Amino acid sequence: MTLRSLSLLVSLALCTPLAAHAVEFTPQELARASALQKTLLTLDSHLDTPANFHRAGFDIQQRHDHNALSQVDYPRMVEGALDGGFWAIYTDQGDRSEAAHVHDRDAGLLRLMDIREMLAAHPDTFQLALTAADAARIKAAGKRVVYISMENASPLVDDPSLLSFYHLAGLRLLSTVHFANNEFADSATDKKGAEWKGLSPAGKALVDEAVRLGIVIDQSHASDAVFDDLLERMPVPFVLSHSSAKAIYNHPRNLDDARLKQLAKAGGVIQVNAYGGYLIDTGKTEARAQAEDALMKQLGGDYDGMTIAQGVALKQGLDALDQRYPLRKATLDDFLAHFEHILKVVGPEHAGIGLDWDGGGGLADLPDVSQLPKITAWLLRKGYSEKQIAGIWGGNLLRVMAQAQAHADKLATPKK
Ligand SMILES: [Zn+2]
Repeated sequence: MTLRSLSLLVSLALCTPLAAHAVEFTPQELARASALQKTLLTLDSHLDTPANFHRAGFDIQQRHDHNALSQVDYPRMVEGALDGGFWAIYTDQGDRSEAAHVHDRDAGLLRLMDIREMLAAHPDTFQLALTAADAARIKAAGKRVVYISMENASPLVDDPSLLSFYHLAGLRLLSTVHFANNEFADSATDKKGAEWKGLSPAGKALVDEAVRLGIVIDQSHASDAVFDDLLERMPVPFVLSHSSAKAIYNHPRNLDDARLKQLAKAGGVIQVNAYGGYLIDTGKTEARAQAEDALMKQLGGDYDGMTIAQGVALKQGLDALDQRYPLRKATLDDFLAHFEHILKVVGPEHAGIGLDWDGGGGLADLPDVSQLPKITAWLLRKGYSEKQIAGIWGGNLLRVMAQAQAHADKLATPKK
C-alpha cells in the first residue's frame, strides 16, 4: 500500500466526537437486529483483511481493537454476527513497467497464498466457499465464510491466462482496476484521465474469460465508461462491491442515479461502501496529509511491514494529529444517507453491503465489524422485511453469483 492510500486509510481510523443528531438504537433494537442476522447470511463484499494475514503479531482468532491496522477478526465477527464475505487479493497498482508487471503478478499470488494459508490454519472456524450455495452450508456447519475476490487485475497483466489458475484456487469476484489506469481498464480516479475510454481490448478479453469461468465482475474503482462497456458487453449481471451514490456526494468513485437504474435493470447489485472520503468531504488539508506522512516515517515508513503492535502506536499518533489538524469523520448518518438513497433508486433487491473493512472503511460510530447490527436495526426501523434484509446482507449478491455460475455451466455444456 502506498503512503497516499495509507493516509486515506488512517485518516478514517480516528475517533472524533459524534454529532448531536447521530442515529442511535435501543439495546432492544440491537438485540433484535443481532438475532435476525444470526438467522440469515450476513456477508460483506469487500474485506481487505487479507492485507493483515502476513503481518507480524496478527492472529485472526484474537481481538485487535483500538488498532489502526485492524477492523476484522474472528471475535469481532462473532460479536457483529458477520458470517464472512469476499476476502480481497488487493494489489497496489505498479508503474506498468515489465518489472512492475512481474512484481504485481507475484504480489497477487502471495496474497492468494496468504488467504489459503489462513484457511488451512483455521479449518474449524473458516472455510472456503466456491458456489453461491456454499455460504449457507458453511454457516450451518458453524464456520465463517471465505469467498475470494481480486481488487485490481494488475497481477494478471503479465499473464492473463493465470485467471483460470486463480479460478481453480477459489477466485469468484474480479475487479479490473484500482486508483490508477492499467492495461485492462480506466480508473475512476486516475488524474491523467481516460486512456482507453472504458475497457481496453485486453480488458474486454479478460471480462469475457471471467464470464466463461463464472467469475462475477466487480465495477468498483473503474470509470463510468467501463460501467457502460460492461453493461453493453456482459451476458450476466455484474456488481459494485464497495461504492456509494454520486447524488449524495459527487465523487468519481460513486455511481450516478441513471447508472444505478441501469445496473438494477440489468439485474446487478451495488454494495454500499463506508469509506469516509467517498461519503463526505472530510476537509483534509495538505498540512494534515504531510503530518500523516511524517508519522508514518516515524513508524518505519513501511505500511505493509508494520507489526500489529505498531497499529496501536499508529492509532495513538493519529489521535494526537486529530487534535492539531481536525478532520470531519464520516458517521453512520452519512453512510445511511447514501444507503437510503441507493435503496430508493435501485430497490432492496439490488443493494447490499461492502464497507471496505481494513481498507479505509468504517465510521466514527461503526468503527469495526462488531457494530454491524446497527445497520440491521436501521433497516428494521425503516420497515424492510426480513426477506429484504436477507437479500441486502448477501442474498442479492449470491443471486448474481448463481447467475454467473449457471451461465458458465451453460457455456461449458456441449450443444446437442
Ligand atoms: Zn477499494
